[in-house]
Amino acid sequence: MISKEEIGAVLGKYDKEKIAIGTLCSHSSLQIIHGAKQEGFRTVGICTKDRIHMYNSFPEAKPDEFILVDKFSEMLSEKNQELMRRKNVVLVPHGSLVQYVGPSNIRNNLLVPMFGNRATLEWEGDRSLQRKWLVNSGLKTPREYKEIRGINKRVFVKFSGARGGSGFFTASSEDEFKEKLNTRIKSGLVSREDAQDVTIQEFVPGVRYYFQYFYSIFEDQPGQLERGRIELLGIDKRIETIDEAYRGLPDVPEEFFDYTITGNQPVVIRESLLPEVMKMGTETVKSSTKLFPPGMQGAFCLETVYHPGSGFTTFEISARIVAGSNLYPQGSPYSAYIFREPMSTGRRISREMRVGLERKRISEIIY
Ligand code: AMP
Repeated sequence: MISKEEIGAVLGKYDKEKIAIGTLCSHSSLQIIHGAKQEGFRTVGICTKDRIHMYNSFPEAKPDEFILVDKFSEMLSEKNQELMRRKNVVLVPHGSLVQYVGPSNIRNNLLVPMFGNRATLEWEGDRSLQRKWLVNSGLKTPREYKEIRGINKRVFVKFSGARGGSGFFTASSEDEFKEKLNTRIKSGLVSREDAQDVTIQEFVPGVRYYFQYFYSIFEDQPGQLERGRIELLGIDKRIETIDEAYRGLPDVPEEFFDYTITGNQPVVIRESLLPEVMKMGTETVKSSTKLFPPGMQGAFCLETVYHPGSGFTTFEISARIVAGSNLYPQGSPYSAYIFREPMSTGRRISREMRVGLERKRISEIIY
């Protein structure tokens, strides 16, 4: 395990005047790079050849420099890590980094400073740790079943990792569960290893809301936490193939029942629900400081279903920037009430870095 002290030693050798924001060229990289440029940082993208042309189409979000790799996991090679360190890179983690490199590689093999607390990614990546965190935060979570046997109500079946809903399914009986799982294994959608680590949850009906928060240790908000401020930077709703299933009625083909995320829609929520939304974010940070000190830092997202009868149920937490925040490069209907300038989550991350550098407290938000 790479310790915070080891990362601190690397950071100690960095030229603080020349810190560069680096990220893997996928997921929310356009937003991260765009925001870093707005805050005056140099930017580095770790990119595969086939993706570079895309950044030419978006010059305001194109990294100043690229580190070329054949596949993303190659960012772990000693040569590439050395290159990143030489360029004073601080990495911003996102869902593709978690998926392609993996939380344990990030924890054990990536000796490059990273924004936030990297231990958090392990709490996100492991469903049982994630659940412990949510429960400790006092959030309502879907009921979970240890095995499918004996279940005669609709359940939601999912697999570990940041996989964007790919391969998830619902089932109402043991037979349906087995049949659907086998079909997915046969088609290669789900690996045998993933199938060993299946999570079976109660199917939660209601309206989905994805809350994009940011926890800053440099701003204070009286009445929230002992230290720091929880900001709501945006809300979205994911677009999944299943959302279109009704179009094929009455004979909806099976492949329409697919939860793979393909995009996001902007959402605002009834104002009377906002106090609860802020409380959920606050409690999530509060419990994290006890479970894995110093706890959650920077961007995170609570993924919820709201039902008028039972309120919010949180089915997932993403402990880093989420792709849904790509909706708001110029800020959201909520960031407008916090900042006088357009503030995306990507920019907010770089702002925190900039304030950390100015106050000579950068090491507190890097691990
Ligand atoms: P996740 O990867 O956990 O964010 O799940 C992907 C998608 O599956 C979500 O956006 C929801 O549409 C759906 N989903 C996840 N968990 C549940 C659940 N317990 N009940 C109903 N739908 C769910």
